[in-house]
Amino acid sequence: MSELRIGAHVEQTDPIAEAQARDAPLVQFFLGNPQSYKGPVLAYEGGPEKLRADAEAAGVDLYVHAPYLINVATTNNRQRIPSRKLLQQHMDAAAEIGARGLIVHGGHVTDDDDPAKGFDNWRKAIAATDIKIPLLIENTAGGTNAMTRYLERIAGVWAAIDGTEGADQVGFCLDTCHAHAGGNPLDTIVDDVLRITGRIDLVHCNDSRDDFDSGADRHANFGAGRIDPDLLAAVVRDAGAPVVCETPGGAAEHLADFAWLRERL
Ligand SMILES: [Zn+2]
Repeated sequence: MSELRIGAHVEQTDPIAEAQARDAPLVQFFLGNPQSYKGPVLAYEGGPEKLRADAEAAGVDLYVHAPYLINVATTNNRQRIPSRKLLQQHMDAAAEIGARGLIVHGGHVTDDDDPAKGFDNWRKAIAATDIKIPLLIENTAGGTNAMTRYLERIAGVWAAIDGTEGADQVGFCLDTCHAHAGGNPLDTIVDDVLRITGRIDLVHCNDSRDDFDSGADRHANFGAGRIDPDLLAAVVRDAGAPVVCETPGGAAEHLADFAWLRERL
């Protein structure tokens, strides 16, 4: 028996119907193409205020995943500046629909860069962003100079943003596939992250098609990947945060994943 709130990443056209099809109290979605610098697009018929009201009435918590290509850490101006703009646009749009959080990847610097530059760029991004709802920085699986693949880098980001205006609204989204494929032992990951960030606001619970420390980011349904089932469940249980399954398939596959997980919690 578990009271943990478990939902899934869904298509955004009617997130409430998607939640109801999964009997889920929360859903996550993209506002537009995750690979595009174009600003957010809300597909919900009736617009943002109606989605906010309908979600509230249905008791469904909404989470927005920012586009993958946002990289506020990079030293490349032509990526960093549009990334910051896109982050603010998604923050505004997510706040308008009453989302509980906006999830963004930690980004990276290039191989020749000092990671300290990336940490400082995170500080500047936080200072420059009008943070209206919790901004949840997610750990990523790959890259040698990523900001949130390894714990020491996550610590660098957190140290850099500490004390910056808005930092109290910055939280952490722990992705189990990314942690495993990124090379972080899952048996200590919750404690390790909490020691650094003091909080885990959301768990992206995913099995991984790839081996530990492979650096690959390919999600799998629970039990179909390379993560020890007991470890996967232990991370979810220990984190104690709402859970978004970003696993393959639609409602049927997600319902099976929820059941698999609940059985082990
Ligand atoms: Zn994720």
